[in-house]
Amino acid sequence: MKFWIHTYGCQMNVRDSEAVEALLLAAGHEQAQSEEDAEVVIVNSCTVRQKAEEKAVGKAGNMIAAKKITGMMGCAVKRMGKDIFKRLPKLDFAVGPRRFGLIPHIIDEIVKTRAKGVLEIGDDETPTGMDAHPDIQRSGTTGCFQSYVTILIGCDNRCSYCIVPDVRGHEYSRPAREIVAEIGALASRGVKEVCLLGQSVLRYGVRNPAWDERDAPSPGGYIEAFPRLLEAVASIPGIERIRFTSAHPKGCTDELIRVYKTFPQVCRHLHLPVQSGSDRVLAQMGRRYTRAEYLAAVKKLRDFDPEFALTTDVIVGYPGETEADFEQTRTLMEEAGFDNAFIFKYSPRPGTRSAALPDDVPMVEKERRNQVLLDDQEVRGQRNNDRLIGTVREVMVEGPSKRNRLRCAGRDSGNRIVVWEIPGEACSMPAPGDMVRIRITAAHPQILLGEPL
Ligand code: SAH
Ligand code: SF4
Repeated sequence: MKFWIHTYGCQMNVRDSEAVEALLLAAGHEQAQSEEDAEVVIVNSCTVRQKAEEKAVGKAGNMIAAKKITGMMGCAVKRMGKDIFKRLPKLDFAVGPRRFGLIPHIIDEIVKTRAKGVLEIGDDETPTGMDAHPDIQRSGTTGCFQSYVTILIGCDNRCSYCIVPDVRGHEYSRPAREIVAEIGALASRGVKEVCLLGQSVLRYGVRNPAWDERDAPSPGGYIEAFPRLLEAVASIPGIERIRFTSAHPKGCTDELIRVYKTFPQVCRHLHLPVQSGSDRVLAQMGRRYTRAEYLAAVKKLRDFDPEFALTTDVIVGYPGETEADFEQTRTLMEEAGFDNAFIFKYSPRPGTRSAALPDDVPMVEKERRNQVLLDDQEVRGQRNNDRLIGTVREVMVEGPSKRNRLRCAGRDSGNRIVVWEIPGEACSMPAPGDMVRIRITAAHPQILLGEPL
């Protein structure tokens, strides 16, 4: 059957959708050309904020109205459980984040028996099919040289506001040998860049109930396990760049810095969600670091490499967040000198610890704080990028620029987008995955412009 997957939410969901795509292709199904053309539509949902959940449910509703066989997967399914069929009585199937490996089988059953309302949420199972990759990775302009690889599923951090541990379950670190084998296979298919995924990748190795001696990259506890895994991945021939997300300041150890120094292919960028700059709010959130500890991690990275790129997530309007707390977030962001920041308005999620607190920052105030941080970031992004004018960046080509097909776009090691003119004909466009050297001539807050050397 012709299928189409619609993905909401984070990179984890993007990765899970890719795995489902690969599993469906292997089972003899076919990728539709468009949503309209599809017989089966799967909506991969997010529930991290209420709005995200509503979007996914709305999309599935539209697909049902368009008379497609419609399924949902992902985090909103796990949160809503069987109530999802109260919202969408004609939904054909719903599968939680750890059960997506069952989708090809469920679709077969639905076609054979015309079953409706199939629900598979399971509890804390280890998902199957996690290592499946379609032949062409991440479609669109990014070509087929980049791939996401899941190294850690679930989360045991239990930050007060976050629903992820409830929907994605307990932490489980995939055995290092499985990860290395998967990346080796990707490299032999031409993948040059991998991004290792986990909710808090620096906790890699903390918990794996089935873990035995052969699974661990080192016996040295979790702070050591992630750097060891990075080394193992960096030693795979053909892998030129390694990214990972998300990081935690506690994992920014000397050992991690040593790996950076030894392996230039480990990219000089960290997504280091800070959430707040106020110690009072950080403690309430249960983030396990103080403002000073966070800034010490930033200093360590920047002392190692002054051009080290840092991006972050921030929540505005957490219960009880005062103007003074908010000012602390503003000043922390300035001190950390972030290259980019994703700002979220606090959204109470059922069952989380903070949902018991009054959501007392009015929406207009959340919007104002959100806008202030975005405006600050715009100025900071411009200033950071201006400093790079005149420098030469090693850029991995992604393809023609989205806005102007006669320009080429790629990313530097810091994940900064770099765009340059193609001299002469478009046929001289370098291939996606090529490495080129670009001298930066101009800068915008989120884009660097340059010329090839
Ligand atoms: N595991 C990642 C974050 C996953 S959720 C980490 O801890 O680094 C992605 C982002 O969504 C979080 O960093 C946080 O900024 C935001 N977020 C999570 N729960 C939220 C909520 N209830 N309201 C608003 N934003 C939230
Ligand atoms: Fe959520 Fe915190 Fe886990 Fe990130 S580390 S997924 S914010 S509980």
